[in-house]
Amino acid sequence: MRKITPGIRSLLALALTLTIAAIPSTLALAQSGEPPAPTVHIVQQGETLFSIATRYGLTVDRLAHANGIPDPRQIYIGQRLTIPANGDLDAVETTTYLVQAGDTLYSLARRYQTTWQVLARLNNLLSPDTLYAGQVIRVPSAPLSADLARGASYIVGPDDTLFRIALRYDIPPWTLTTISGLADPLLLHQGQELVIPDAGNGLLPVPFVNIAVQPLPVSQGNTLIIAVHTTEPVTLTGRLFERGIPFAEEDGVYYSLVGVHVFTEPGLYELELTATDQRGHTTTVDTGVVVQSGDFEYQQIDLPANRAGLLSPAAIARDKERLDAVRYLFTPERRWTVPFQRPCAGPVSAYFGAHRSYNGGPYTSYHSGTDFRASTGTPVYAPADGIVVLAEPLALWGNGLVIDHGWGVLTGYGHLSSIEVAVGQHVTRGQLIARVGNTGLSTGSHLHWEMWVGSVSVNGLQWLEGDYPWIESDWLAVGG
Ligand SMILES: [Zn+2]
Repeated sequence: MRKITPGIRSLLALALTLTIAAIPSTLALAQSGEPPAPTVHIVQQGETLFSIATRYGLTVDRLAHANGIPDPRQIYIGQRLTIPANGDLDAVETTTYLVQAGDTLYSLARRYQTTWQVLARLNNLLSPDTLYAGQVIRVPSAPLSADLARGASYIVGPDDTLFRIALRYDIPPWTLTTISGLADPLLLHQGQELVIPDAGNGLLPVPFVNIAVQPLPVSQGNTLIIAVHTTEPVTLTGRLFERGIPFAEEDGVYYSLVGVHVFTEPGLYELELTATDQRGHTTTVDTGVVVQSGDFEYQQIDLPANRAGLLSPAAIARDKERLDAVRYLFTPERRWTVPFQRPCAGPVSAYFGAHRSYNGGPYTSYHSGTDFRASTGTPVYAPADGIVVLAEPLALWGNGLVIDHGWGVLTGYGHLSSIEVAVGQHVTRGQLIARVGNTGLSTGSHLHWEMWVGSVSVNGLQWLEGDYPWIESDWLAVGG
């Protein structure tokens, strides 16, 4: 049986390392013996209590309680939040816990009402893949009170929300809704009785063996990888963000790459996986995916009247129709390898995801690609192997090009001065495919480069980075 691949492990390891590095200085102060100064966080646009709590290694409950916030959804831009010190971890009273099959750092953190960052630090875990069934780890000893026992009923308190109760019991909120027969999960009232299901032994139902979802949490605009191991060949389907997600099979493992849209609200989302075996028997499992804020820039862009005129609804509709004709392609054969090659030598002049207001309008647009500044005629190279699926002039993109790399991964190129390949042509990594230009809605010579994963625009620079964890992966290796 194949375990989680090294590449996926290192991806999660990087996510963990980055998050630990981002934990602010309160811990360092405590360790140096000085009294920790109270940290104040001023709420920024796009932030939620969840994203702030994650950033400081706190639970939403703890942050909300420290600031007397009854409803975690009600915070406002400019609000000053007191960040409670995590304190010296050595002073945390701990007990031991025997890791069970199916446990993850994330599920244990929820069970013990702490964060996975704290658990990782308590146990000096550099990577969550060091967690294995039978391992003994340290967990905070603040015990689950008797009323938190599973398989029991729960009486809703004055400050409870469904989300908070679900987090406390490590149960998906939709499960709680279904089992308790709630007509409206937003209308809980004090004294109401909820049924808390028993979580069972933590093992996945046959034929599921292992489900790896990385990175968690995933940021808006990033790529989520789902890898599923099963006991036997199955037909696997999935749903996330209320849409179907296709799986591709390689060496007996099922993979799905999901683009998280820039405007996905931070929060907890249901991931549903259904396996159908060769006898036609279906098994479904539910798990959760947490999305956090992507910390994007806000830009105001003033278009001159003659350029703004190009943004006519008809032109936009025609472009959308042409691009949508290829955006949803899912080719089961993977042609790409990581890292992707940088498509153009120029410097980045505009990053992916920036929220944009045009001519003073609302911030309802975002930059769906990465801009590379380069003079007209600069070569554009294929970042990975693929098949050309679009090569034609468009109103906004100007001369446009789209390459299908397989598994729902596509790249797009705009404002080109020339296109050097044709639709249907197989291109290889590093091949000259086009030249930079200033065609379409462009105010200077540059390459607009898009990356689509599962039809959603994602940050393509992730796929280029030299230290991007996927490059160590065996299943994505060159020639695979
Ligand atoms: Zn652009």
